[in-house]
Amino acid sequence: MIQTIVIVGAGHGGVQAAVSLRQNGFDGRVVLIGDEPGLPYQRPPLSKAYLQGKMALDTLWLRPQSFYRDNRIELLSGTRVAAIAPRERRVTLGGGGTLGYGHLVLALGARNRLLPVPGADLDGVLYIRTLAETDALKPRLAAAQRIVVIGAGFIGLEFAAVATAQGKAVTVLEMADRVMSRVVSPQMSQYFAAWHAQAGTRLLFGARATRIIGDAGRAVAVETADGGTIPADLVIASIGVVPNIELAQAAGLGVGDGVIVDERLITSDPNISAIGDCVLFPSVHGGRMLRLESVQNANDQAKTVADRLTGKPSRYAAVPWFWSDQGDRKLQIVGLADGHDATVVRGDIAAGAFSIFCYGGERLIAIESVNRPGDHMFGRRCLGLTRHPTPAQAADPAFDLKRFLAA
Ligand code: FAD
Repeated sequence: MIQTIVIVGAGHGGVQAAVSLRQNGFDGRVVLIGDEPGLPYQRPPLSKAYLQGKMALDTLWLRPQSFYRDNRIELLSGTRVAAIAPRERRVTLGGGGTLGYGHLVLALGARNRLLPVPGADLDGVLYIRTLAETDALKPRLAAAQRIVVIGAGFIGLEFAAVATAQGKAVTVLEMADRVMSRVVSPQMSQYFAAWHAQAGTRLLFGARATRIIGDAGRAVAVETADGGTIPADLVIASIGVVPNIELAQAAGLGVGDGVIVDERLITSDPNISAIGDCVLFPSVHGGRMLRLESVQNANDQAKTVADRLTGKPSRYAAVPWFWSDQGDRKLQIVGLADGHDATVVRGDIAAGAFSIFCYGGERLIAIESVNRPGDHMFGRRCLGLTRHPTPAQAADPAFDLKRFLAA
């Protein structure tokens, strides 16, 4: 019988693990330790509604304070776990003191990849990952006139859409030849590049920032590899993340580009599980070891671990899904599009409501949707099945997806 479960990291995965343990009837001690101050909060709005001022701070919390008290979840905010002693089943807290555990859940997340160029430490070079970073960014955004965003991934583009809509002159630098190249099909990249361009954002491809130019300690321009200089009073670096593996590594756990777990999300130590952005796991859908950065992945992995710890063991097999809000365009992705060799479009691209069905051979492997939530929901159910519509069926606008599922 496990008496104490300690969860390290009070983000999306950590909070969901604590919630699910209680929902599953775990009656022992649950301690949730997070190094950020205050209540655990939702990250996605930091580059969307919260950044725009459309979402108040008290609606950002994952759960109200009373929830932790009422559910006997001991929340230790502003507390870093400095070390794990796996043999003694004990963690050491940054401020001193130790805490024993029966089982440990690592939900450590990831941190910003830092811009590896001279001048990256100048005032005016900012990142978007934590509430503190977005709070620091808001007044800078309001005051900025010319902004350079480095990296055309989800977060960079979400920010660019917000800033452009506020009348700022925004230039996005992307080293690849298309936006969101790691995660979406070339067709979807093309659609979003055109949308951002018509909104007024300047996109430069094959463009590498080589230096941030400063004046009196403040960023004033970004220099690119082709010798160009783009004036900027605000630079947003959104060039990806690095998983927080060091705590696990120092404890002797297996790590790679993430804390390595098996299909039950157990690390190389049977008393330690790991979930969310920090985890490298064997993906049923990707057919290989994967690390995913999404709320769905963190939440569903948390539920899988809570199920196992309360006597319902299962392997992690949830269908992956993601979303990104860029201006008034809602992009929803289900499945993993990399490796697709054919695509089929359903809906109307010109009207801004369409889906791209991505196939690997006859197998449907992902659906990317813009303002077509029905197709997305179809994908969430269908990709978990062995039977998929053929490319010809998907291409037929009269083909009824709902009826296909019902059959
Ligand atoms: P996190 O939520 O990052 O939580 C990990 C926590 O652990 C952090 O608070 C960290 O500080 C803490 N921690 C680390 N080490 C220690 C330690 N030693 N001791 C104590 N605490 C520690 N996903 C989507 O699906 N859709 C979106 O639209 C979307 N938008 C996003 C927008 C932004 C701006 C960002 C930054 C992310 C977005 N994501 C989105 C990704 C999503 O937020 C993450 O995938 C999710 O938060 C992962 O949850 P997690 O629990 O693994 O990590």
